[in-house]
Amino acid sequence: METIGRRATGARGLRCKECGEELPLGASYACEFCFGPLEVVYDRDELARRVTRESIEAGPASIWRYADLLPCAPDDPTAGLPVGMTPLVRAPRLAGRLGLGEVWVKNDTANPTHSFKDRVVSVALQKARELGYEVVACASTGNLAQSVAAHAAAAGMRAYVFVPADLEPQKIIATGIYGCTLIAVDGTYDDVNRLCMELAADRPWAFVNVNVRPYYSEGSKTLAYETAEQLGWTLPDRCVVPIASGSLYTKIHRGFGELLDLGLVEGCVPVMTGAQARGCGPVAAAYEAGLDFVAPVRPDTIAKSLAIGNPADGLFALDVARGTNGSIEAVTEDEITDGIALLAETTGIFTETAGGVTTAVLRRLAERGEIGPDERVVVYITGDGLKTLDAVAERVEPVTIRPTVADFEAAIADTTTLEISR
Ligand SMILES: *Cc1c(COP(=O)(O)O)cnc(C)c1O
Ligand SMILES: [Zn+2]
Repeated sequence: METIGRRATGARGLRCKECGEELPLGASYACEFCFGPLEVVYDRDELARRVTRESIEAGPASIWRYADLLPCAPDDPTAGLPVGMTPLVRAPRLAGRLGLGEVWVKNDTANPTHSFKDRVVSVALQKARELGYEVVACASTGNLAQSVAAHAAAAGMRAYVFVPADLEPQKIIATGIYGCTLIAVDGTYDDVNRLCMELAADRPWAFVNVNVRPYYSEGSKTLAYETAEQLGWTLPDRCVVPIASGSLYTKIHRGFGELLDLGLVEGCVPVMTGAQARGCGPVAAAYEAGLDFVAPVRPDTIAKSLAIGNPADGLFALDVARGTNGSIEAVTEDEITDGIALLAETTGIFTETAGGVTTAVLRRLAERGEIGPDERVVVYITGDGLKTLDAVAERVEPVTIRPTVADFEAAIADTTTLEISR
C-alpha cells in the first residue's frame, strides 16, 4: 500500500497491457520493453480486507469516497472543485416512449465543468502534483480543455490546452476564461494529439491524457462505482456508453468488474453497449465487420467531443463489447439531434451531442427489440447541452407576439391542439 503521509490507496504499480511487465507508480506511460500502454494495478487482497460498502459510504460526497480504488488521493478531499456523485435519475417517460421497462440516466452534466471529464482530470491533476509536475497540459476534443483549465485554476497550476481550431465556440470561450494558454491547432484532434505527444517528450509538463494517461483513465471507473452504489449496491443489466478513445467505456466495465471481484456487489458485469457517431465511428465499424483492428478515420460529425479518428483504446473496447454480449453502434447526425430532443422532452435533461449519440443508440436497440422488458438499463449522459447549442438551434422556434392578450391568444390557437396531443 502506498501511504506516504497521505490517504492510503490500494495502487501497487503500473502494468503493460500488452506484455504484462510491471513498473513502479511513476511518470511512465509506455512499456519499456514493447511500448504498449500501461495501466494501474492494485493490491487486490489488501483492498478486499479494507474496502467495504460502509467504508465507502463514510467517505466524502465526491469521487474521493472511492480513493482506495484509485491511484492517488488528496490530503484534503474537500479541497479543489468537487467532482462526482452526480444524479442517477430514473427516466420512466423515456422508457415509456421507447417501450422499455427500467431506464436510468446517469447525469454527468452535473459536474463542475458540466462533463464527465472532471473525473479523469481530478485524478490526473492529483497524481501530477504527487509526481512533482507544476504545469499541466492536454490534447482535447473540447470538454477536457475546459476541465483541465478549471481544475488548474482552482489548484493554481499553469495550464497549456491544445484543441482543434474548429471546436464549438462555447467550449473555446468556456476554456479560455480560466486563464490558461489556449492553443487552437489547425487540424483534427488526431493532429492535436500527435503534436502533444511530441511536445510531451521533452517538456516537464503533465499532459493529462498523454504522459499521465494511466492515472487519468482510472478516474472513469468512478462512474461504475457510483452507478452501483446509487442503485443500492446492485448492478444494472446493460449500460449505454459513448466512445471517443474508448477509455471511458472500458473503464466503466473495469469498475463494475472490480466491485464484483471485491464482493461489494453480486451478479455479473452488465452488457456493455458502445455508442459512436457514424461520422466518426471507427470502433463501431470494426465491431460490425468483425475485425481485430481499428482502421483510423477522418472525423466528420457534430459529436465533436467523440471525434477521435484513431482511438487509443479501440481494441480494448472491441474486447469489452464482445466479452459482455454487447455491441458498438454508430448513429447518423439526424439521429443524434433527435436523441438530444428525445432526452430533453422526456427527462428534462439537456445533453450535448455525445449524449444525443447514447440516447439515439438506446432508441435504436429498443426499436430492434434487443432490450428485454425487465432489463435495467443505464444511459450515460457525459456532457451538457449548453456546450453544443448550434447542433439543435434550428429545432427551436419561439412564437413572437406583440405584448397583447389578443396577440397571445391568436398565436397559441394554432399550437394548442398540438400541446394537448403530446
Ligand atoms: C471525452 C468524452 C467522452 C469519451 O471519451 P473517451 O476518450 O472514450 O474516454 C464521452 N463524452 C464526452 C462528452 C466526452 O467529452
Ligand atoms: Zn510491454
